[in-house]
Amino acid sequence: MLQKIDFIATKYALKPLMRGHCFSQKEFITIRILCGNHGLTAVRSAIKIKNPALEEEKGYCVYISKDKRLAQKCANEDPEYAGSGDLSGLKYFSKSLGYPECCIDSYINLGLGNLSGEKKKEVIFKKITRNNKPFLLNNFLYGMGMSLSFYEPCSYGCKYALSYNKKIMEAVRKEDPLFAARIREYLQLPMLIWLNVSENSSANDFFHNRIQLLFKGSLKRQNTIYYEKAALYRKFPRCNPTFDEGQLEEASLGNICKVYKDRVMIFDRNTAVKEIKVDNKYHAVIVKFN
Ligand SMILES: [Zn+2]
Repeated sequence: MLQKIDFIATKYALKPLMRGHCFSQKEFITIRILCGNHGLTAVRSAIKIKNPALEEEKGYCVYISKDKRLAQKCANEDPEYAGSGDLSGLKYFSKSLGYPECCIDSYINLGLGNLSGEKKKEVIFKKITRNNKPFLLNNFLYGMGMSLSFYEPCSYGCKYALSYNKKIMEAVRKEDPLFAARIREYLQLPMLIWLNVSENSSANDFFHNRIQLLFKGSLKRQNTIYYEKAALYRKFPRCNPTFDEGQLEEASLGNICKVYKDRVMIFDRNTAVKEIKVDNKYHAVIVKFN
């Protein structure tokens, strides 16, 4: 399981290192051969690891780089699994993944800072509802292989993040222009997001535990989405237990979604087909990159 975009970015040396997953030694060997064909080295974690991206099944992490020593070092010291948990290890690993320093610092500060849970929600809410977010920085579609980078930019106006993601987009365009065009289209689709606010956890968990609807359509006015299709995009296991996701699946019944302060209405042409009550400011947030 390798993200195609990460693979291209690593091949073009834009990312010093990428991390992927595999479930068996056999799958790892296939990955190693593929990497060798592109001038890259692959090293796998010594033991199987449970990872949210692998759902319930355990798998190996795979570390890929042009630099063999870097791949080996990161396989040994991945702070998420094997590291000592100190900040310098986390910073070194994040830098190896190619992320801008300002974005790494902001991610760490928000996750570990002294802000209350309420305050963190507010910071994230403000960040994702900002106007004029360039589509190149849309990191909400990583799970479906469409985001140019997984990391959280320090803001959706960060010039370092923008320049980094732009280079990755150019590399993807060189390798696969049709794929690049599809990425561009997807990253600009409107989304409706429920931030998980049921627990007082770290800021990063609010992002990872979110529930998200992706609309194949366009945003008309501030609160109305016209669409052909709606897809419930991603749910990690530790999702908000108070929220019934079945409600969202029914969005596919209609073709117009209107979001009000206290409810979401789904219409099939002019007929209302579904009403979803919203009693939390951090639920049903429209997010659209341009
Ligand atoms: Zn930044």
